[in-house]
Amino acid sequence: MTELQGKIAVVTGASRGIGKAIAIELAKGGADIVINFKSDKKGAEDTAQKVIEAGQQAFLYPFDVSSASEIKTAFKKIQKEQGRIDILVNNAGITKDNITVLMKPEEWDIVIKTNLSSVYLCSQAVIKSMLKHKWGRIINITSVVGFIGNPGQSNYAAAKAGIVGFTKTLARELASRNITVNAVAPGYIETDMTAALPDEARKSLLAQIPMGYVGKPEDVAAAVRFLASDNARYITGQVIHVNGGMYM
Ligand code: NAP
Repeated sequence: MTELQGKIAVVTGASRGIGKAIAIELAKGGADIVINFKSDKKGAEDTAQKVIEAGQQAFLYPFDVSSASEIKTAFKKIQKEQGRIDILVNNAGITKDNITVLMKPEEWDIVIKTNLSSVYLCSQAVIKSMLKHKWGRIINITSVVGFIGNPGQSNYAAAKAGIVGFTKTLARELASRNITVNAVAPGYIETDMTAALPDEARKSLLAQIPMGYVGKPEDVAAAVRFLASDNARYITGQVIHVNGGMYM
C-alpha cells in the first residue's frame, strides 16, 4: 500500500508544468486527484489520463483561482461530490512582468489575486474538512524569486514572499490539529512559464545555478509528495527549496 492511499488531493493549475507533475506524483503515492485548471482542458485531460494510469481516480474541476466567487462555488461542489479534501496544493500561478516604474495597476492586481489571494481563499475553503477528519496537508508553491527578488517581477516576488508569511501563520493556527502547512520554493524549472523567457534571461538564470542545469517539474513534485506523506508529519511552517543551489 502506498503512503497516500485513501486520500483526496486538490491540485490547482494541474493542466501543465509543475502542477501536472504534482498531480501525477501524488497519484503514484496513492491519492485520488482533483485536477483544477483554467482554460487548458486538453492538458487537464492528459493529466487525468496519467493519474488513471497510476491507478487512481481523477476528477476535473475548471475554475479561475483569481475569482473569489468561482473558488467558493468550486470548493463547495468538490466537498459535496468527493466528501472530503485531505491535501491541497496551491500551485496555480502566472507572471505579468514589467519594471516597477512602468507596472500597471492591472498587472499588479492580477498577479496578486492569482498567485496570493487564491492561496488564502483555497486554503480557507478546505480547513473545515481537514479539521473534521483530524488530518490535513496544505502545500503552497512559492518561488526563489520571493526570497531573492528579480528585476521586472515585483508583483510576482511580492505575491510569492506573501505566500511564505501566510504559510507560517496558517501553520501556527493549525499545528495542534494534525494539519501541516508548508511551502515549496522552486528555482528555475523547465515549463511553459520559463520557456517564455528571452534567451538572455535564460542564460543569466542558468549562470546562477551551482548545479549548472535547469530543474524539472518532477523535482518539485517529489518534494510535494514527501510533504504530503506521514513521513513529514513533524514538519510544518517550512519552505523546501528546490533550486539546484541557486539560493541557499
Ligand atoms: P505554467 O506551466 O505556466 O502552468 C500554470 C498552470 O496554472 C496551468 O495549469 C494553468 O492552467 C494554471 N493557471 C494559471 N492561471 C490560473 C487561474 N487563474 N486559475 C486556475 N488555474 C490557473 O507554470 P509552472 O511553471 O508550472 O508554475 C507552476 C507554479 O510554480 C506557479 O505558482 C509558479 O509561480 C511556480 N514556480 C514556477 C517556476 C518555474 O521555473 N517554472 C519557478 C518558481 C515557481 P491553464 O493551463 O488552464 O491556463
